[in-house]
Amino acid sequence: MKTDPNIEDFASSNNPVVRKFNEYLDSHGLRRTTERYAILNRIMGINGHFTIEELQQLIEGDGFRVSRSTVYNTVELLMDARMLRRHVFEGMQAQYERITLPHTHLICTTCGKVKEVRDTNFAAFMNARRFNAFNTDHYSLYVYGTCSTCARKLKRTRQAVKDKDEKNKKR
Ligand SMILES: [Zn+2]
Ligand SMILES: [Zn+2]
Repeated sequence: MKTDPNIEDFASSNNPVVRKFNEYLDSHGLRRTTERYAILNRIMGINGHFTIEELQQLIEGDGFRVSRSTVYNTVELLMDARMLRRHVFEGMQAQYERITLPHTHLICTTCGKVKEVRDTNFAAFMNARRFNAFNTDHYSLYVYGTCSTCARKLKRTRQAVKDKDEKNKKR
C-alpha cells in the first residue's frame, strides 16, 4: 500500500462523512488505516450502485493495491456505520450504494439495468403509513419489469419472426 498525500489529506479533513467514519472507527476500537480511507474516498466519488468487484477495480485504477477482503470488510464497516446500504436484486450480485434520499429501484429482468426514481407519491404514502407495534426506520421498493430499450428490441425480434413467417407462407 503506497501512502498517498491526497488520502492523508482526505482522512484528516473536516468532511462530515470522514468525521462520521472516524467516530465509528474510534468507538469500535478500529484503526484509521489508509486503506479504509482510500476505499471511502473512492466510494464518495461513485454515483449510484456498485458491486464489490467494481469498487475494487476503481480503487486499483486509482493506483492502490487492496485485497478483496479489505474492500469487503471496509464495506461491511460502512454498512454498520449506516453510511452504505446493500441491495440484493433477484438473480443479481449484491450492489451497494451510499445512503441518500429514499428512492425506488426499477430493475429490468432482461438486461439487469437498475434505474433509480424519486417517487414523491410513494414517499408521501410511506411517510404517512404507520404499522401496528412497529417503528419504520427505512424501506426499499424494488419494481421488476422490462426497460424501454429491451422492450424495443423484443418488439423488433417478434416483428422479424412474424415477417419471416409471412414470407414463408407466400412461398
Ligand atoms: Zn433492459
Ligand atoms: Zn439506489
